[in-house]
Amino acid sequence: MDIRIGHGYDVHALGEGLKLFIGGVELEHTKGCIAHSDGDVAIHALCDALLGALALGDIGKHFPDTSSEFKGIDSKILLARVMELVWERGYLLGNADITIAAQKPKMAPHLLRMREVLSSIMKVDVERVSVKATTTERLGFVGREEGIEVWASVILLKN
Ligand code: MG
Repeated sequence: MDIRIGHGYDVHALGEGLKLFIGGVELEHTKGCIAHSDGDVAIHALCDALLGALALGDIGKHFPDTSSEFKGIDSKILLARVMELVWERGYLLGNADITIAAQKPKMAPHLLRMREVLSSIMKVDVERVSVKATTTERLGFVGREEGIEVWASVILLKN
């Protein structure tokens, strides 16, 4: 059994009046992530974890923010493309664990939907995908509602 571990991290600044996408789900909020893509900071961290497990660089290398192809792109499409790289190399996702740090909005009501969306793109059972969230107790840029940060870990398996 060949086992690969990967870790990813991403931050996006929040801007007024933008749509907020986290973990493939659109959330009701007054602010959204400022980004070249749809700004789904959780999917970006997850993509980086998957690419890291394969030692294939990062999301910026694969989907440059200078390319008009990726302007406003739905990050679920980016995740699907990264999973193609995983499958092409004979790996499957063992599990993924994602932690979102956001002061607002409340993530808890949406975590199961995020797990469902992400696991369906990665073609695994929802039990293999964990999404957790925390505030930072009003500390730092997250606590000031200036941005959202996300960490993701994955294990890839190949027989
Ligand atoms: Mg990003």
